[in-house]
Amino acid sequence: MAEKADKADHTDRRARRIADFIAPLRVPPGSDVDLAADYDPRYRAHLKKAQGAELLRTGVELLAEYQARLAAQDTYGVLVCLQALDAGGKDGTIRHVMTGMNPQGVQVSSFKVPSDEELDHDYLWRYARRLPARGDIAVFNRSHYEEVLVVRVHPEVLDRQKLPPSARRRGIWERRYREINDWERYLTDNGFKVVKIFLNLSKEEQRTRFLKRIDLPEKNWKFSAADVRERRFWDDYQRAFSEMLSATSTEWAPWYVVPADRKWFARICASAVLVHTLMELDPRYPTVGKKAREELLNVRRELEAEAPEGASEDPYAAAHPGAEPPLPRKRSRKGKAARR
Ligand code: AMP
Ligand code: MG
Repeated sequence: MAEKADKADHTDRRARRIADFIAPLRVPPGSDVDLAADYDPRYRAHLKKAQGAELLRTGVELLAEYQARLAAQDTYGVLVCLQALDAGGKDGTIRHVMTGMNPQGVQVSSFKVPSDEELDHDYLWRYARRLPARGDIAVFNRSHYEEVLVVRVHPEVLDRQKLPPSARRRGIWERRYREINDWERYLTDNGFKVVKIFLNLSKEEQRTRFLKRIDLPEKNWKFSAADVRERRFWDDYQRAFSEMLSATSTEWAPWYVVPADRKWFARICASAVLVHTLMELDPRYPTVGKKAREELLNVRRELEAEAPEGASEDPYAAAHPGAEPPLPRKRSRKGKAARR
């Protein structure tokens, strides 16, 4: 019993530490964000890179454990939306943070320029088709937020969306923010938690990363001339991001602005945000009822009776003395005494 309480205490302390760590990254709902003034892409919470490796390992372990529980419980689903400017580190973050998760329970979807078929539908359609099932984690590499970012910065993209005139009037962005908030609220209310992470990169760090992609031949494929064209719209994007963060960081689905100039720090933050979300959901392995348990014990007796000459009745129990859960029939005297 004491051991159990200790473990719960340890988990609580860890949960609190993680919550404190990510608190400065959370965009308070209703706040008026000025990205450049409010969030420093180089912030690193006084951490050193060496400490970071250890933290990321812990994060990866916790994620593996909680994902297994999420899948077993099959009640909640988690949607992780990753947004960033080009070279912000989305791909690397996904690769590092998802290590250790069971691939059966994770789906990653990348959203590019919409296809003709996608443009023939309402703007949330293609994202809705990629939502997680209960028990799963879906990662959106770019997300429905592109609909108020790239689409806003480039009005000609909006022209291709075939909207009726009534849907194109002034106030379209306010309306989209509201629609997105409502959609996320609906998902949350129905057991699908929405986690939103913005990798916040500085203009100078983007320049450095672009140059690296040009300088290293094996990185060339990652670079496109379009990326440099987009960079010219830097200020427009900063404005679009600031407004979007202000309008869509909600109590049910807050934004986290992750400092992205140091990749190692960004990965720790992203992993911490996800661990925090899963700890709050606190998924549990389902337990069976008394009757089902009795049936299991009957089957156990049958299997034990099948033990060949010289073999242990229950090789697993023999190899794991004291392993939980103890079966009533097998409890030792010592165990009984300890429980009194
Ligand atoms: P990448 O993520 O580098 O493969 O690039 C994907 C490209 O698709 C980016 O330039 C995005 O701006 C663009 N994109 C993503 N979603 C949309 C959208 N809804 N409308 C227009 N362009 C988009
Ligand atoms: Mg790109």
